[in-house]
Amino acid sequence: MKKVGILGGTFNPIHFGHLRAAEEIREELRLDKVIFIPSGIPPHRAASEIVSFAHRYEMVKLAIAHNSFFTISDIEGQRAGKSYTVDTLKLLKKEIEAKFYFIIGLDAFLEIDTWKSPKELFTLTHFVVMPRIGFKQEEILAPLRKIFSEEIKRKGDVFILPTGNCVYFCPIFSLNISATHIRRLLAEGKSIRYLVPKEVADYIYRKGLYRRGNGKEKDLS
Ligand code: ATP
Repeated sequence: MKKVGILGGTFNPIHFGHLRAAEEIREELRLDKVIFIPSGIPPHRAASEIVSFAHRYEMVKLAIAHNSFFTISDIEGQRAGKSYTVDTLKLLKKEIEAKFYFIIGLDAFLEIDTWKSPKELFTLTHFVVMPRIGFKQEEILAPLRKIFSEEIKRKGDVFILPTGNCVYFCPIFSLNISATHIRRLLAEGKSIRYLVPKEVADYIYRKGLYRRGNGKEKDLS
């Protein structure tokens, strides 16, 4: 069965940190492909600071265009209302026959017990947790212990769950880039060169995204 990585995110905007992480994990776990899934209205984020789904989708598309292992899905943009990972994965399972590897930063993984139906989530996919600066690998266990009362077995960097699925800690060389920092630079009128692919930077400038004081971004037309 094919092995498919899934990288969900707000991608507000996508940057080299996301791209490099997906590439390293694809190589390390020998994934057949990685699907980037920009979120709709993310359940955990204030919608106001996030540019439209259409813009974020377009930027991801531009960023992955040159990597044949990378694809994009608009599955979360198609659904009205908030999108929850558990619902997205159930829909994807119907479309694609594959083993799923949900890629996530350690910072985000620490809150996984607050996501919708966390136990069910771990029946639908393996997880691949990436290190983030300031977080320790051992912290992976804390949210898992809140979800499962059973013992969680560990073999090196792999945590084996009672559902039979695994959480892989994948020690990639993480680039210290965040979308928050990129948005701040743009708001201050500073350069974002070498933080995002050129095609993404060109798109941001062309559409006037993330500029301070311009209120809403221009419509995607
Ligand atoms: P923000 O700064 O707006 O919170 P972000 O840069 O963290 O955004 P997201 O779209 O929230 O980007 O991230 C999507 C996924 O990619 C998350 O699992 C996050 O932990 C991970 N991620 C973000 N930046 C990096 C990076 N530099 N290296 C590795 N993983 C990253």
